[in-house]
Amino acid sequence: MKKTTRFPLGAFEKIETPFYYYDTDLLRYTLAALTAALPPQAKAHYAVKANINPRMMKIIAASGMGADCVSGGEIAAAIEAGFLPQDIVFSGVGKSDKEILAALRCGIGCFNVESVEELDVIDQLAATCGVTAPVALRLNPHIDAHTHKYITTGLSENKFGIDITVADKAIERALALPNVRLRGAHFHIGSQILTLEPFRLLCRRIGEWLRQWRARGIFMEYINVGGGLGIDYDAPDEHPVPDFAAYFDVFANELALDEGQTLHFEPGRSVVAQCGSLITRVLYVKQGLNKKFAIVDAGMNDLLRPALYQARHEIENLTEPYAQTDTYDVVGPVCESADVFATDKELPAVVRGSMLAIRSAGAYGETMASRYNSRELPCAYFSDDLLPAGQKI
Ligand SMILES: *Cc1c(COP(=O)(O)O)cnc(C)c1O
Repeated sequence: MKKTTRFPLGAFEKIETPFYYYDTDLLRYTLAALTAALPPQAKAHYAVKANINPRMMKIIAASGMGADCVSGGEIAAAIEAGFLPQDIVFSGVGKSDKEILAALRCGIGCFNVESVEELDVIDQLAATCGVTAPVALRLNPHIDAHTHKYITTGLSENKFGIDITVADKAIERALALPNVRLRGAHFHIGSQILTLEPFRLLCRRIGEWLRQWRARGIFMEYINVGGGLGIDYDAPDEHPVPDFAAYFDVFANELALDEGQTLHFEPGRSVVAQCGSLITRVLYVKQGLNKKFAIVDAGMNDLLRPALYQARHEIENLTEPYAQTDTYDVVGPVCESADVFATDKELPAVVRGSMLAIRSAGAYGETMASRYNSRELPCAYFSDDLLPAGQKI
């Protein structure tokens, strides 16, 4: 059965726009699909930065997932939402001393360490707390994920990770430091990856390195392959849930794990993106010289992805779904030329007051919202509260 988002228009009429609408049913459905497809010996850690809405986080924590955090604030929010500290992993190139100490004190499961310099600092701070820090080395596997340059992270010229050519030095260092315990290796090759080939390549690289390490008597108990599974921004109702089974199967089939080895995933976008829409109203339909502008009351401060990554989001006219189509540039009110949601977008004709849904906005939407131009932060509403019980699923 396909689960597609339904919009409770009656309830929406009473809410001030713009706001985020989360389909909490679809979220639970997605989590069930993910959990069912997860291979044995594997654990998924939700990449919290994709969506840190407390209600969404609670639902995700209740599914049994761990969390992948990139700041002290995210670790605190994850624990608050019910994620177990030992199931939290801490990534990021610039962990501050304060963040490292907080992570050590709450007993997080693993630091994904991004440089030898960081390894030394974690060792020193762990000593001051009288604990041993569990660490994995984030290694850069030189794989081109063929995605946007701002979200590709696995290539060599990159601020992320430790270059594989110096991995041996980092491993030796980690083994020599008294207050860190080397658990394994971490990889993350990018985001919004739509073919499985980069993941297959990653498996092959990891497999080779595991053989080399094993030959030298180094046992990596923890293999973390990061996140990055993409979603269908063009057809959210056709593909509301990513094909987790096909994705996980790549790793289950192509990465031979030893007894006692565990596989870790860090999906972010694939968990939450399709569950959220940004709901906005048309303020003005402005006739330009050659085009029409639909000026809406949501801006790049509410949803930054189009301005930051030239990202495309499907837009739906909720008020007049069957009107004759017309072509618009859908733009926000923020004083920036980049404040554009869509260019030459064909939509059922809109008028002042038309309500639009900017789809697939559940990931990297609300979390990136800002108060630029002194605008209000967008509020969030949930299908659990707005949809009558009989209309769910
Ligand atoms: C952002 C990030 C993720 C999540 O990526 P998605 O593309 O949202 O799945 C996972 N791991 C690390 C280290 C990240 O930085």
